[in-house]
Amino acid sequence: MFKRMTDRLGHIGSSKSPNMQSSPSSSFSTTLSAGLYTEHRGSISTERTSASGWSKKADRPAWEQDDYFEPPRTLVAQRPKGSYCLPDFIVQRTLGTGSFGRVHLVRSKHNLRFYAIKVMNKEKIVRMKQVSHTRNEQMMLQAVQHPFIINLWGTFQDTANLYMVMDFVPGGELFTLLRRSNRFPDPVAKFYAAEVALALNYLHSLDIIYRDLKPENILLNFDGHIKIADFGFAKYCNTTVWTLCGTPDYLAPEIIGNARYNKSVDWYALGVLTFEMLSGLPPFHEPDITPVKLYEKIARGPSCITWPLIHSNAKDLILKFMESDPSKRYGNLRHGAGDVFAHPWFSEVDWDKLRRCEIQAPYMPQISGDGDASAFDSYPEIDATMLYGVPTSDPYGGQFPDFEYTSS
Ligand code: AMP
Repeated sequence: MFKRMTDRLGHIGSSKSPNMQSSPSSSFSTTLSAGLYTEHRGSISTERTSASGWSKKADRPAWEQDDYFEPPRTLVAQRPKGSYCLPDFIVQRTLGTGSFGRVHLVRSKHNLRFYAIKVMNKEKIVRMKQVSHTRNEQMMLQAVQHPFIINLWGTFQDTANLYMVMDFVPGGELFTLLRRSNRFPDPVAKFYAAEVALALNYLHSLDIIYRDLKPENILLNFDGHIKIADFGFAKYCNTTVWTLCGTPDYLAPEIIGNARYNKSVDWYALGVLTFEMLSGLPPFHEPDITPVKLYEKIARGPSCITWPLIHSNAKDLILKFMESDPSKRYGNLRHGAGDVFAHPWFSEVDWDKLRRCEIQAPYMPQISGDGDASAFDSYPEIDATMLYGVPTSDPYGGQFPDFEYTSS
């Protein structure tokens, strides 16, 4: 079963690494076999076809179709919609590459502040069947406002691209810090895990499932507190969902087992993240592991993990998060996230202070001033003026009605 699934997996996340070109067939194995494991892991997404009872697309109800999108009525925009257009900004440099384009550091011509703009090519999104995910990303980010989640100011489109204007988060990725540190001491891992737990609990309280937790998607703000980015797989979910998406190392067993799943996959992923922060590698890692072998190990569960020397309370919580049966998984029991907050590993955490960012972060990014992006890798630059805002034919514009056309 895993072999068939692996063959079918669409690899939508480009490597976010400057030196790797996104190759749909090669980036997953390249990433997995990299001895030092220093390259970003791409995200994957595919349409389900094989589970019993849901085998033919036409048999499934509309809301089960991958391309189905209905704005949830319970989510409301947290900020008045700003109206932006490309000439409002000067593109400074590339901060990262995403699945369908780049994220740039830009400077506003009006208030001279720095922002990050994510540019996504419409044709690529449509070709990779990610229209509903992209619309979800915009809608979910517009509906959230939390100290540990990236802030979206507005979106717009031109004939070729979609644009998302966000706060610039200058401290770089937790991924970079973790790989440089090799592994985090217990209190450091606990700090980041606790902030992620607060953010997940907030998202789940709005019935948003995040689905792509990993160190690559956790940015550090100037004060060292986290900002979760990349809502490309986030989705409104008040029951269960179905789409196979996420990052292989972080997929819960029910996702790879072709079952319907709920928000508890995010708690499973927090278990993986906590393990990776404490040990330096994800739990099922082994050199040159194939995707099929990885999925088999995930399905077998934590019994096949080789544990590093970590605090017994940390191990206990990781095991409770990585419980294979979602109905027994921490975060998904009667007391919800309350069980997580009350776990002994977090006993010294003052959750209210943490939520108010009143706990000193363990690592302060070295930032020399506004717009300092030295915490990010450098990428071969492109000439933005040649690529963005240039009139082209526009066959896909109608598929992204929430991205406003703003005149240049
Ligand atoms: P994404 O496609 O959203 O995962 O973004 C790709 C990469 O761009 C991320 O891994 C970050 O390194 C960088 N990035 C995304 N959003 C921001 C932001 N708001 N501030 C700084 N860097 C960002």
